[in-house]
Amino acid sequence: MRLSWRRSSDAENRLEKWVAQQLQRRVLAGETTPSGPCPDEEFLRALARRSNSIDLLDPRVDHAATCPNCMNRLLALRREYQSQRRKLAWALAGAACVILVAGLFAWSRYESRQQMLAQAPPIPELVDLWNAATYRGQQLGQLQSVLLPAARIHLTIILPRFSQAGQYLVAVTRDQNGNGVVAEGATATTASGTRERVTVDLDLRTAKAGAYFLSTTHEQDQAAYYYPLRIEK
Ligand SMILES: [Zn+2]
Repeated sequence: MRLSWRRSSDAENRLEKWVAQQLQRRVLAGETTPSGPCPDEEFLRALARRSNSIDLLDPRVDHAATCPNCMNRLLALRREYQSQRRKLAWALAGAACVILVAGLFAWSRYESRQQMLAQAPPIPELVDLWNAATYRGQQLGQLQSVLLPAARIHLTIILPRFSQAGQYLVAVTRDQNGNGVVAEGATATTASGTRERVTVDLDLRTAKAGAYFLSTTHEQDQAAYYYPLRIEK
């Protein structure tokens, strides 16, 4: 159905083109008699562009369609206009290519930067809790808040005085009841002199900047100690 419509439409287009070519040939050969004076260049340009501002009942259209001078000028303007359009299309295609290439370049740079960040060694951080409160339930107010970056960190904690050696779970949590764990890791103490320390890798990249708690939980007595912590972007 659609195909046959298209075929008949193509045939009509061919016929119209043929009639137009015959008319054009007759006009250029001076076989027609134009009525009225030649319109100005602006009007011919608008006609060549098939501008919507042209009223087909305008007598100037009739003139241009029958005057060899106007027809010649129209054909020249039409060719000029079509080549401009082709140039514009090429320019637009070129611009699109440039944008695409720039986009791909930016994307690949972003990707490699992300990969570099992912592969970059964690940032070493030291938190000294040697003088921090060691009694459960003791007010945390006096303790200066710990500051950590929102990054992958290699965290060493000097445990508070009198801390037991052994296995610890270190966590960054939203509150001091252990809720909202941002990152955690298990580790064993190593002694440096009399001070017990633990070292653990924590990934804080997804953490939003703000207030958190750093907790240490000894494996055996399961007592968790919470220290105020700030994460900064
Ligand atoms: Zn004319």
